[in-house]
Amino acid sequence: MVYDFPLYRPPSEAKSLILQITLGCSHNKCTFCYMYKTKKYRVKTPQEIEEHINWAKNAYPHASRIFLADGNALAMETRQLKDILQRLYAGFPDLERVTCYAGPKDLLAKGEDELLTLRKAGLTMLYLGVESGSPRVLQNVKKGVTPEEMIRAGQRARGAGFQLSCMIISGLGGKEFWEEHAVESARVISAIDPEYFALLTLLVEEGTALYKQVRRGEFVLLQPNEVIDETKLMLENVELSDCVFRSNHPSNYLSLKGTLNKDRDKLLDILTRAQQAQIALRPEGWRLF
Ligand code: SF4
Repeated sequence: MVYDFPLYRPPSEAKSLILQITLGCSHNKCTFCYMYKTKKYRVKTPQEIEEHINWAKNAYPHASRIFLADGNALAMETRQLKDILQRLYAGFPDLERVTCYAGPKDLLAKGEDELLTLRKAGLTMLYLGVESGSPRVLQNVKKGVTPEEMIRAGQRARGAGFQLSCMIISGLGGKEFWEEHAVESARVISAIDPEYFALLTLLVEEGTALYKQVRRGEFVLLQPNEVIDETKLMLENVELSDCVFRSNHPSNYLSLKGTLNKDRDKLLDILTRAQQAQIALRPEGWRLF
């Protein structure tokens, strides 16, 4: 078996070759996350990585994009990751970009010189799961960092020259913290000022800690119109210089695309029209992880 399933990648990496050089997530504690619960984090052995790259070179010799899986390949040692990047650019003549997920703690654990080394070796873009900018929401979901640490992590990635895509999860504050989640997430995203900002919407998977909280009535989910209120409040509060914004994930009730802040009014207008039932929302049962 070439891959160790389950295997995840961001939607924008749909056409990328996925190379699984690590397994699982080194944090693996977020209460809403089901992705790597069946795996224990580890870096694959040099022999496993060698075999995986050799298989990929034979199967996809003209790959131009590679995504390094699983949950946070950036947690591996800088020297080993740099060696892998160099081998990829040497082994895939058409390779243009290599990307991976980046956990905030992994970004903060690397020195600025290490991040620069990886950027120069050809790691081009990072996906940072910010999830929320609210201190209480981040603490409740056990993200493991504060908003200020999240900002520092994002700014360090930007400072080292990485393209950065930040993700926020709509509804993650529930009914109790939705306003704080919206306003503080806008503050954190604005402080990082990434090239890409993606909005997903919370789906609660059976087996997660959050699922149990919902069942016990400790976490009350937002209704679709409330998610839209939250998105409006978030968009009203962001200050971004030139950021590609997307909420076109299958978990979202409404697909939005634009550039922030340039298209803010247009996006707010679409959200208002959706609340007035002039635009149909994705039915609850059609939302997907
Ligand atoms: S959300 Fe990201 S950091 Fe948190 S457990 Fe899941 S993969 Fe790991």
